[in-house]
Amino acid sequence: MAFAPIFMLSAAHPRDFPPDEGLEVALVGRSNSGKSTALNRLTGIHKLARVSKTPGRTQLVNFFAIGEERRLVDLPGYGFARVPRATQARWQSLVETYLGTRRSLAGLLLTVDVRRRLMEHDERMLLRVRELGIPVLLLLTKADKLSRQAAIAEQRAIAAGAAGVPAVLFSALTNQGIAEAQSQVETWLKVQ
Ligand code: GDP
Repeated sequence: MAFAPIFMLSAAHPRDFPPDEGLEVALVGRSNSGKSTALNRLTGIHKLARVSKTPGRTQLVNFFAIGEERRLVDLPGYGFARVPRATQARWQSLVETYLGTRRSLAGLLLTVDVRRRLMEHDERMLLRVRELGIPVLLLLTKADKLSRQAAIAEQRAIAAGAAGVPAVLFSALTNQGIAEAQSQVETWLKVQ
């Protein structure tokens, strides 16, 4: 990334979001899908995802500034086991409001464990962002856990189920897909 992101704030409610100006790219994904690791790798800053993992902040929308006009946004993960209904409803409302109203949102990275295929929550998320016309890149994480051929086969199967949404094999261990994901983020943020 051309600019190092700096933690701005965590929002528990849409009224706490920073002003809706400039451009943002958001990350979302199932819990344990590798979202925090991807955020680390894409920015090269390990403290960022640690911020997002701080207990109490995992259900918040975390904003990181890249200069004055651009932001990365870490949306709360979904699919936690045994989450109370009220917490689930709060997540849904916060994320839905963010996705549905945020004018500066230029693109969304959706992390999916390459070995797990798309789960119901991922499919719902893809449907919703398609309705909203938000560009998406699927990061098929943990690609190092499969052989090259198996990873490519999974990539094809996932892409077929995702109706044309681009999907890149991604690994924090081998750095596979990181340059491609960074380049997409820079395009969305109009960094160059
Ligand atoms: P989050 O809950 O979606 O933020 O997921 P994390 O980033 O915390 O990752 C969940 C687990 O998967 C951690 O144990 C990570 O070390 C591991 N992980 C994440 N990305 C990769 C990857 O590319 N390769 C491998 N082998 N493990 C990964």
